[in-house]
Amino acid sequence: MQKIRVLVAKPGLDGHDRGALVIAQGLRDHGMEVIYTGLRQSPAQIAKAAIQEDVDVVGLSSLSGAHRTLFPKVIEELQSMNAGDIPVIGGGVIPSEDIPFLIEKGINRVFTSGSTIEELANYINQLVVPANSQVAKKISHIGIAVRSIKNTLPFYTETLGLSLEGLEEVESESVNVAFLKIGDSRFELLEPTSETSPIHTFLEKRGEGIHHIALDVEDIETRIRHLSKNGIQFINTEPKLGAHQTSIAFMHPKSAHGVLFELCEEGGGEEA
Ligand code: ZN
Repeated sequence: MQKIRVLVAKPGLDGHDRGALVIAQGLRDHGMEVIYTGLRQSPAQIAKAAIQEDVDVVGLSSLSGAHRTLFPKVIEELQSMNAGDIPVIGGGVIPSEDIPFLIEKGINRVFTSGSTIEELANYINQLVVPANSQVAKKISHIGIAVRSIKNTLPFYTETLGLSLEGLEEVESESVNVAFLKIGDSRFELLEPTSETSPIHTFLEKRGEGIHHIALDVEDIETRIRHLSKNGIQFINTEPKLGAHQTSIAFMHPKSAHGVLFELCEEGGGEEA
C-alpha cells in the first residue's frame, strides 16, 4: 500500500510553526508522508504545492486569526487549478463559532487545539482510503460493438426477451447506443457513426463482440486519482461525457489484463 501524502501548510503571516511541525512529525509517526511548506505561504502557493506534490489531503494551520479569509482562498485556488477534489482540513487557534462557516466554505473538518494527533490521523485515514475500497458496487453496463443496431436488436429483444430502453447518439465517441436493461445493469449496443469512431476501429480489427465493461463508480475523479497512483493507465484521465448524462473514463486494457474497463458515474456529466 502506498503511503498517504499530506501537505501541511501555514497560510498567512503568523511566524510560529512549532505546532505545525509537531503535527507533521505526529502524522509521520502514523506512517504518512508529510510535506511541510514552511511559513507564510500564499493560498496560491499552497494549492500549487499540493498539486506538484500530488498529495491526498491538505492540512492548514493558522494561529493568526486570518483563517476566515485564508482557508476559503486555498479551496478557491485548488478549484481554479482543477484540484478541488483534494480534501482540505484545518486546525490551529480557531474559535468554535467559526467552524460552521469554514465547513460551509468547503473545509472538510476543523481540528481545534484540544484534538489529538490520533484523532487527526484516524480522520485522514478514513478520508483518504474509503472504508469500502471496492471500486464499484455493480456493473453499470456491458458495451457490445455491432455493425448495425437495427440488425442486432431482434436478438436482444426477441431471442433474449429484453426490452429496449432507449437509443442515443454519443458524440464524444461517434456512436449510436441502444440500451437494453437487465436487472440493475444494461447491455449497450454500440454502432459507429463514422470511421473515426473507436468502435469502427474495433470492428475492423476484431469484428463484433464485447467491447468494454463499465463499472458504476461514485466519485470518478477520486477513483481515477487513486487508480492512477496504483499504476493504472487511463486512456482519458479527464472524465468525459457518456450516454445518459454520465461521466466516463477508460482504463487502458494493458493495465487491466486485456479488458477495456470504463469507469462510469451516473449523473456525473450534468455539470459538464
Ligand atoms: Zn460504456
